[in-house]
Amino acid sequence: MTGADTENGLEALELRVREDLDLMNHPVGGWVPPRTHPSGAPVYDVVIIGGGQAGLSILFALALENVTNTIAFDRNPEGREGPWMTIARMALLRTNKNITGPALGFPSLTPRAWYSAKYGTAAWDNLQRIPRVDWQDYLNWYRRVLDLPVQNETEVGPLNPENSDDEHSLIEVPLNAIGPSGRSGTVYAREVILANGIDGCGAWHIPDIVRDNLPNDRFVQASTEFDFSTLASKRVTVIGANATGFDAAAAALEADAKNVDLLVRRSEIPKVNAHRPLDSNAWHRHFADLDVATRWRLMVHVMRNNQPPPQDSFDRAQELPGFRMHEDFAIQSIGLENENIVIKSENSETVQTDFIIAATGFICDFTQRIETSAIADQIAIWRDRYDPPADVDWAPMGTYPWLEGGFAFQAKQPGTALWLQHIYCFSLGTKPSLGLTGGSASSIRHAVPRLIQDVTRQLFLNDADHHINDLLDHSGEDLVVARHPNKSV
Ligand SMILES: Cc1cc2nc3c(=O)[nH]c(=O)nc-3n(C[C@H](O)[C@H](O)[C@H](O)COP(=O)(O)OP(=O)(O)OC[C@H]3O[C@@H](n4cnc5c(N)ncnc54)[C@H](O)[C@@H]3O)c2cc1C
Repeated sequence: MTGADTENGLEALELRVREDLDLMNHPVGGWVPPRTHPSGAPVYDVVIIGGGQAGLSILFALALENVTNTIAFDRNPEGREGPWMTIARMALLRTNKNITGPALGFPSLTPRAWYSAKYGTAAWDNLQRIPRVDWQDYLNWYRRVLDLPVQNETEVGPLNPENSDDEHSLIEVPLNAIGPSGRSGTVYAREVILANGIDGCGAWHIPDIVRDNLPNDRFVQASTEFDFSTLASKRVTVIGANATGFDAAAAALEADAKNVDLLVRRSEIPKVNAHRPLDSNAWHRHFADLDVATRWRLMVHVMRNNQPPPQDSFDRAQELPGFRMHEDFAIQSIGLENENIVIKSENSETVQTDFIIAATGFICDFTQRIETSAIADQIAIWRDRYDPPADVDWAPMGTYPWLEGGFAFQAKQPGTALWLQHIYCFSLGTKPSLGLTGGSASSIRHAVPRLIQDVTRQLFLNDADHHINDLLDHSGEDLVVARHPNKSV
């Protein structure tokens, strides 16, 4: 029997969470010696950029390892971290409902425990996939019940080492309040984790052919917060046949757009999800153990072939009057003619429209992110280290960060910028190196423990002298021998 089948389902679950934590002896005190900064500014053991599902899981995982001088910063207001309440427009998560997500081995913290406690076990049994809005609600609950330290409305960047000659330099973390509860100033961190979202290595992409030929008020990137009611009675064109494209098409029609043309560059929309096989323990754990050439070849296959939209996203758009999908529509030209946007394909098909939504993914480019803008030219990317054979060359993948078994950035010039080992990439940028993505709901349970191992290793080794002296000086007596006057012992 779970929560909602009893009275006060969530209250009962929260009690269970507290009992579980207690049974696992959590929390207990920290082991990392505190640091002070000469300026008086705070020094955190770990700063996390991003309070989405990855940032929250990392905070909890660190606390379980008794690393407690931590904080996550997020530029969004509380409850609006990540894509769920901002740029996502689908009804249901794309992920299988049985993921354990950020629970990190605690059954009472699973999405299933929460959903069943809130709505009842029958509701869970009948659920196809977890609704998007419920997912955010679950994350809000997870943050609250674990009392995780997240500072919202605070933008972080640009990061810099305090002393670029010191391999264990503190990292300077500038903060900028962008809302009433935000925080400004500079803090320092021994380790910094970029749990900054799917686009965390770059920026959402708008093709040059759109940007160069149209005024800015005639297009938007699909992964942008945007008021769809402004599309009422307009002809809309979506470029891109991914899930985001189909969701945007449906949202536009539901907001009374006159019609939506969705342009697919390939001769046919993909039907096979090339990412699917990677979602297994074998690949999550061991992709990174393959040699470089094999990892490159496999990930080019996966990324190039990509994935179709989920069936329900596809059906939602298809079933709306005014929706038209154009396969084999490689764009040749875009221009404005008498207030009409005219889009021509390489095989002479023409679409006329009023507004374009570019569902065209993201690019990796560290210069484009405030977090990494000052250190971008020092971060190694794949094309610095690997020259692929011509038949599997694919330029976009050469721009992904080059990681070596863990999540820490590597220096472009080996042997330089050693402080980069204290800055960790935990976004989709990890994919070619490690196979898994930092924070996606299905990979969290594999990725977070692996990250934590690296972070605590750095924290320990960086203070090795302290820990060694502590061990050698240890003189606390475990044994108390009561000496009786008549006994020799
Ligand atoms: C439309 C859409 C649908 C998706 N559906 C799924 C799905 O069904 N299943 C799934 O597993 N994944 C899905 N994803 C991928 C999804 O984004 C991730 O799985 C999940 O959000 C990753 O969590 P995260 O914590 O790493 O990043 P996010 O949830 O994106 O959180 C990152 C946070 O970092 C903050 N941030 C970034 N830069 C800064 C900065 N400089 N300063 C302060 N704060 C900063 C952002 O405000 C954001 O809140 C989807 C993505 C999109 C865009």
